[in-house]
Amino acid sequence: MEFKVGNATLQLIKSDITDIEADAIVNAANSTLLGGGGVDGAVHTKGGPKILQECKRIRDNEWPDGLPTGNAVITSGGNLKAKYVIHTVGPIWRGGVHEEAKLLRRAYWNSLKLAAAKGLKSVAFPSISTGAYGYPTEEASRVAVAAVKDYLRAEDRIERVTFVLFSQRDFDIYAQTAKEQLMPT
Ligand code: ADP
Repeated sequence: MEFKVGNATLQLIKSDITDIEADAIVNAANSTLLGGGGVDGAVHTKGGPKILQECKRIRDNEWPDGLPTGNAVITSGGNLKAKYVIHTVGPIWRGGVHEEAKLLRRAYWNSLKLAAAKGLKSVAFPSISTGAYGYPTEEASRVAVAAVKDYLRAEDRIERVTFVLFSQRDFDIYAQTAKEQLMPT
């Protein structure tokens, strides 16, 4: 399913993000940058040890206390088809009254900003925060789609953003939100 946002395309697919060919895939990391479950586990398992080595270097050199929620950093794609992995930390859901939406928006925004700064044209996101971090998928989809839409309207260096949903249920939720917020192509 595809939508036009300015000159860019926003695409939704049901897939495994580690199989995606894009300039960058985004990892739903945690602040340690040292791996975890869900997307993070899959990225490091399939991507191989080079990604983790680069993450450790970033920890040592830039973020000794961990990457703050809403920030993003970039490594190579290791053995993945994607050229780069952007690691971002979404918020842990704590009822919705602890700036979760603002922090989730920032995670998407900063990932796109970093991709654009690197000259990348295509970026694929998972549904950040809706797994182990417990963010309700419907609420998260509204924040995610709005953040990407606003970003793509604000600047036009990124050509394609793909949401990669792992389950049919998540795909249906994101598709409904996208239809509400965007014009189909
Ligand atoms: P978080 O800790 O930010 O909640 P998770 O990785 O636990 O991140 O989950 C985020 C979302 O990604 C969940 O909807 C989960 O089902 C989904 N997911 C898990 N593995 C993959 C994968 N390999 N590709 C795409 N999505 C995935």
